[in-house]
Amino acid sequence: MSQYLLVTIGPVQSYIAQSRKTIDLFNSSKIIGDILKKIVEEIKPYLKYREDIEGIEILLPSMNIEEYCQEDNSIPNYFIVELSEDNSVFRDIENTVKKIYEKVLYDFKKEIERKFNGTIRDNELQEHISDIFDIYSVKVESDNYKKAYDELYEKLEMFKNIRIFNHYFGIGEAGKKCTICGQRNSIFNKNSNNTTKRVLSEKEHLCCSCYIKRIYDNKESNFPSTASIAVMGWEGKNDENNLKNFKNEIKKILGDTELYEACYYYKDVVLNEAKKKDKVKKCEKIFADYDEKLFSKYKPTKYYALVKCDIDDLGKWMSGKYFKTNNFLEEQKKLSKKIIEFGKSIEKQFADRKLGRTIYTGGDDFLLFVTLEELFSAIKLLDDGMERINNELKNYNKKLTISKSITIAHYTTPLQNVINITSAALEQVKTRFKERESSKDVSKNGIVITFITRSNTYRTTMFKNTTKINADIFEFVINEFKKNNIAKSFITQLKMNFKGFDAVMEYGEMLNIKQIFESEARRLLARKSEDESNVADILLELLNQGTIELGTNSYRLDYTNVFNFLHIASNISRELLKGE
Ligand SMILES: [Zn+2]
Repeated sequence: MSQYLLVTIGPVQSYIAQSRKTIDLFNSSKIIGDILKKIVEEIKPYLKYREDIEGIEILLPSMNIEEYCQEDNSIPNYFIVELSEDNSVFRDIENTVKKIYEKVLYDFKKEIERKFNGTIRDNELQEHISDIFDIYSVKVESDNYKKAYDELYEKLEMFKNIRIFNHYFGIGEAGKKCTICGQRNSIFNKNSNNTTKRVLSEKEHLCCSCYIKRIYDNKESNFPSTASIAVMGWEGKNDENNLKNFKNEIKKILGDTELYEACYYYKDVVLNEAKKKDKVKKCEKIFADYDEKLFSKYKPTKYYALVKCDIDDLGKWMSGKYFKTNNFLEEQKKLSKKIIEFGKSIEKQFADRKLGRTIYTGGDDFLLFVTLEELFSAIKLLDDGMERINNELKNYNKKLTISKSITIAHYTTPLQNVINITSAALEQVKTRFKERESSKDVSKNGIVITFITRSNTYRTTMFKNTTKINADIFEFVINEFKKNNIAKSFITQLKMNFKGFDAVMEYGEMLNIKQIFESEARRLLARKSEDESNVADILLELLNQGTIELGTNSYRLDYTNVFNFLHIASNISRELLKGE
């Protein structure tokens, strides 16, 4: 009999979302990975040693133990291993994992105490730290790995259902709440000690859980701010020396300031800061001096994109639903390896081509910061990567696809909102295009794009990735706006024509309205666009995708989705045009 162990920690999403600065977000992902790596390192003596590879391997994600534990290697929030054939190990393994986990938390606590010299109530620290995650470990004994795998997940689901109700939410804890999570009491503020003076702002009062993220890994160069993501694309198009000299000059004038360096490129922001110090004239002069070298052609945008993507139905894939062969373990490992390679190649491309910054790429889903300039190159990378896996692994009954949620946000929009909206929209698009049981080979393959403006208005559009409508086609529409082939008034006029129309209608009426929509779109576009039929076809396709059958002879047309599609394309084109 072989013995298997599955370990996972959670909740990941809500933990990651409790981030105010990008450093909190990057460290959230790092902390989760590091905890799992430490657990793997500590249970190493209990794992099966394989003579053939002269080492220990992790079954899922498929890699050897050294690779898994490598610093900065992005990994998913679970692992499956085979235990050494020793019954006493198997009997005690859940307890062993629990003890190891407690030791890891204890190290965290020590680390905080070391960095924090003031007095701190021990039980509060203890509670906040053990409140961060739940750890789950389940074990199964079987001669058949496929059977064991299914059973591990069945058991895990059972445990999760029980444990979820026990989660501690700081109920009964009286006092001022943390300004990030709002759940636990605040313990640290700017004046707590020398470290907090450096890493916290005046308004921040943090609990231990949120504070750990701020101090965990604080090599500043590792954590670009949202502003520096926004300007990254523009920086890439300018001479490095010019950029450096410009920043130095602004720095000299502004002196001690809380402004991020990336914001030095924003004239209005700098002048606003300079006003407080009575140095407006001096700053204006620097901008004038560098106008030709840096700003005259094209100004940096204040918007960036957060992209979250998720391989569709990966759970079903991993459980062998679409494998053609019977060698379950081998197929599962092959697939897992391909997905790991995919993540690594995304990471490399992001670094080499300065597309933005990856937050995590090691799991079943990726989270990425992308510059507006390179947004569509990044999306193309994701689609190409999927295509590559499909070409390399032909032994399947289905094609792998990836759903994406793209949020374009102003650099000042609270990061927590951006993360939450991106995750929620991804769930929504996946539900919207969920595979119907009857049609086996249709995947979700959805894209949802949300644009959050400076004044906090949200617009969302979504579509299913097909040959008729996809990211390339969305980019084409953006370019039509850029080239002024679609008039700005087009959206307003089209909207006005459909103002009085009901959203719910009968079949005949639905067909009629689509015809009116099509001819109106063509008529309005013909005034300007040379490619009028193309754009009209795209909009009609979007309307077709947004036609929902509510019941017998009852339909709903989603106009808003079409209008938002146009609004967002127009907004992006405007940002990319900034003086181009
Ligand atoms: Zn907190």
